[in-house]
Amino acid sequence: MENIYRTPSAHSEVHLGASILVVEDEAAIQELIALNLGQAGHEAVSAMDAQEALQRVRDSLPDLVLIDWMLPGMSGIDLVRRLRTNERTRNVPIIMLTARADEIDKLAGLESGADDYITKPFSIRELNARIKAVLRRRAPQMTEDPVNFKDLTLDPGTHRVSVKGSEISLGPTEFKLLHFFMTHPERVYSRTQILDHVWGDHVFIEERTVDVHIRRLRSALEPSHSDQLLQTVRGAGYRLTALP
Ligand code: CA
Repeated sequence: MENIYRTPSAHSEVHLGASILVVEDEAAIQELIALNLGQAGHEAVSAMDAQEALQRVRDSLPDLVLIDWMLPGMSGIDLVRRLRTNERTRNVPIIMLTARADEIDKLAGLESGADDYITKPFSIRELNARIKAVLRRRAPQMTEDPVNFKDLTLDPGTHRVSVKGSEISLGPTEFKLLHFFMTHPERVYSRTQILDHVWGDHVFIEERTVDVHIRRLRSALEPSHSDQLLQTVRGAGYRLTALP
């Protein structure tokens, strides 16, 4: 029952689970993680080494990257540094997998820019908890936590949106758009940024598609006057604000 609303209809352009790149050279661990991520509603993309990971990232920016410390060729730590120095990947959430538990390694990892660590062997439950915590911190629109903003309440788990308790109906793209804005209030996002965050980057959709969905979202919010919270910022993009 829990899974009913996880995946919007097949023709939808958006999905609620996170796309997670798993960089791990041990096939058994790679498979185990991928299976688990799939069950948790995420989409796993695998890479066996750093070079393959960089190629995958060029193809499509993941929502989160799991990186094994010990990789053949470029190490996991060096891969983290590479991702952190590149503008496009600088803010991607990263969790390191390590077999080495001592504090010095952890510290080196922290300096490298990873968001969190998991020490092998780890339980699936621990992995899920860490992924959720990092996404909550770095990409709250990827979690299923209910969000409130002014009179609006959005629950990703049940796929429901309400204004002062009365439900409003939204299409899957408008839902994801509103979810993104509600988890990133008071900041202006350009159409390109909105496309990257809501549709996924490297998706070749015209920028005016954003305007179309913003318009639909506003009409859905209009009867409750909540459409005024979603501002057009001339020459810059859109912003959800408590002070319209
Ligand atoms: Ca390894």
